Amino acid sequence: MSMATKSQNLLDYNKEELEALTTSLGQPRFRAAQLRGWLYRGVDFEEMTNLPETFRKELKENYVTGRLRIRRRLTSALDGTVKYLLSLGDGNFVESVLMKYKYGYSACVSTQVGCKMGCSFCASTQAGFVRNLTAGEILGQIITMNTDLQIRIGHVVMMGIGEPLDNYENVVRFIRMARDTNGLGISCRNLSLSTCGLAEQIIRLSEEGLPVTLSVSLHSPFNTQRSEMMPVNRKYPLDKLLDACNIYTLNTGRRITYEYALIEGINDSEAHAARLVSLLKGKLCHVNLIPVNRVEGTGYEKASKKNILSFQKILAAGGINVTLRRTLGRDIEAACGQLRRAEDENRRQ
Ligand code: SAH
Repeated sequence: MSMATKSQNLLDYNKEELEALTTSLGQPRFRAAQLRGWLYRGVDFEEMTNLPETFRKELKENYVTGRLRIRRRLTSALDGTVKYLLSLGDGNFVESVLMKYKYGYSACVSTQVGCKMGCSFCASTQAGFVRNLTAGEILGQIITMNTDLQIRIGHVVMMGIGEPLDNYENVVRFIRMARDTNGLGISCRNLSLSTCGLAEQIIRLSEEGLPVTLSVSLHSPFNTQRSEMMPVNRKYPLDKLLDACNIYTLNTGRRITYEYALIEGINDSEAHAARLVSLLKGKLCHVNLIPVNRVEGTGYEKASKKNILSFQKILAAGGINVTLRRTLGRDIEAACGQLRRAEDENRRQ
């Protein structure tokens, strides 16, 4: 039995590489720009009408356009949030979510198939880790949604399945392609990366000259508890993490957003809020409170309205910028990891 040869994804090619490929196939350089225009609009080779047929045929034999197949699409009746289960070339699945805000469309993309980080509250890690996504596969999620809904996504958050800084090279390559005006043309200000706290990579990212918005998932201000909830804290405890965040702010000028999912009886006490104030006081930052999403098997429940409000009040009184995140797509399980897990379970039955 012979394995099918793996087709190369043209979305993995940046501008220069696509030009080199085009000329190596005997075509003039301007054809690369035409090809890229089609690829970014999610068009199949057959419909790339301004390219010579021989060129299209050659491409089709050895390459794919990188647009992903839509396995499932759920639209929220409450707020129009759309959640996608997308199928990659090798049959793996990732999830992407599209949200509509006053300022336009924002996409939440996945960066890995599964996750290694093992956070106790998170659905993405339960099904285990399979592999990293390539830059083109991350880009492909955006292009697939743009094409499907005939829209132009203007903001991207890397907050889907996976730990972006655990897939450092591909994610940085993706960021470069996303901000390239020959690519998606999305500025770093409108690109957000969310991390569970890989301190070394945060510092490395701060030196790339790519000042993306950094979100850090904090969830507890106490080392012992944070290590229980988030194993990454054993390697990078809070002082190391917050030092790295300071360096990020110093090098990029960007304020950090700290994500804090409030879980009833776990991390929603006044003592937690007070400790958080003392950790973050005087830093250029912002805290985003999120009532935890229920994930089967975790046993965690959302904090009560009363506790959420008093938590918020303590932070605000301590001089910390704080917002309560609006939950979008509640009726379609828009929190990531759940669709992929369900699909895997279906297939195993
Ligand atoms: N690995 C990255 C990005 C993916 S998770 C990170 O850890 O930041 C995206 C965000 O969702 C993180 O802030 C994560 O902590 C949060 N999250 C995961 N499970 C959640 C749940 N059940 N309820 C609320 N937020 C959750």
